[in-house]
Amino acid sequence: MVFVLNKNKQPLSPCHSAVARKLLKTGKVVIHKKYPFTIRLKELKESERKLKDSESKAEFRLKIDYGSRYTGLAILNGPTVVWLAQIHHKTNIKSNIDSRRAMRRTRRNRNTRYRKPKFNNRGRKEGWLPPSLQSRVDNIKNWVIKLQRLCSLTHISYENVKFDTQLMQNPEISGIEYQQGELQGYEIREYLLEKWDRKCAYCGAENISLEIEHIIPKSRGGTSRISNLTLACHACNQVKGDMTAEEFGYPDIQKQAKKPLKDAALVTATRWKVYNVLSETGLNIECGTGARTKMNRILLNLPKNHHFDAVCVGTSTPNDIIFRTNSVLHIKAKGRGSHCRTNLNKYGFPRGYLARQKSFFGFQTGDIVKAIVPKGKHQGTWIGAVACRKTGYFDIKNKEGVKAAQGINHKYCKMLSRVDGYEYASEHVGVDGIPLMTEVTSILPY
Ligand SMILES: [Zn+2]
Repeated sequence: MVFVLNKNKQPLSPCHSAVARKLLKTGKVVIHKKYPFTIRLKELKESERKLKDSESKAEFRLKIDYGSRYTGLAILNGPTVVWLAQIHHKTNIKSNIDSRRAMRRTRRNRNTRYRKPKFNNRGRKEGWLPPSLQSRVDNIKNWVIKLQRLCSLTHISYENVKFDTQLMQNPEISGIEYQQGELQGYEIREYLLEKWDRKCAYCGAENISLEIEHIIPKSRGGTSRISNLTLACHACNQVKGDMTAEEFGYPDIQKQAKKPLKDAALVTATRWKVYNVLSETGLNIECGTGARTKMNRILLNLPKNHHFDAVCVGTSTPNDIIFRTNSVLHIKAKGRGSHCRTNLNKYGFPRGYLARQKSFFGFQTGDIVKAIVPKGKHQGTWIGAVACRKTGYFDIKNKEGVKAAQGINHKYCKMLSRVDGYEYASEHVGVDGIPLMTEVTSILPY
């Protein structure tokens, strides 16, 4: 699906890409944005204005599956999936800052006598997050704002906790499973997987199916409280039989099970920070748990993927899903270049200087350009990200990030899209069990 804007750049309902292609041929619309692909109507017609009024009732729900490395995004209109994307967060921030600090330290200390550390009176602002986490929050904020401009969003679904501890505290699994439905089981399973590191507690086997195991067996009076449960592979479970974990030779497991799982503090902090950022948009926010997402994904029979996870977030997930899109936009956060103007070698010594300005002849490093070179070694057409030089002779990188052409004169280059701190790639899905466009996957009611 393609996002549509009217003449005044206000969002209309997204249309099918085939419709967009036809409209583009007629010349009634222009390409507003390449990523995500958006068209804009040239004329403000009466019919479109009416269309807009009727569409104002349409509900577009943005669903977000926040993860530490990837965040899945999905826009749904009722049961219809309109748009899918994945944000790839920056992962090198911590190591970059660490290496910068190490080089600065050695540089300063090289010719300086020892000095006592200063009194630490420099406070951090409230709500401070480490830069690596802050960047994830900012990425999501940025994209919610961007999408609000392209599509009239009304609701947001967001997964703010992994599992609902309230749902889990109740002791008897079997009883509750019958009483309150399936969700309980999922919450408990997710909790145990997290607590026991997705491994068999006895032999440490990974990537196999694990069974919920009673540390003190039920036959010996053990309860089904979460503090008496662990995960074991089938073999260990069988061998252990009606022994307790201590008798089985693992006294530590009993101790570990007694301790409740401490949520990784940072993850929770970021999740709540993201929630606060989302609530600033003024849209209706629905919160879901990770366990529910997983349950929905299994019931909808969708493969494990960040964008499909996003589709499954929250109670609002419909029982039938209709895919009106068969591509996923991969959005890779790259930043907008570095503050440092000196290139360093691996020892931290300068090996070259970068220009003070960012823009050369109207181009900036990272812009997507099309260059038609009429003659010479690089004769032909080149499309890709440009690396600007002050000489006016640019390098062009292709899709794979390989230098395709070197020393292309700026006058042959034509701007396709300006750098915005993200790199884009579109992935086509619709093979190997992944739903194709308009295919309906049904699930049982729950
Ligand atoms: Zn085992």
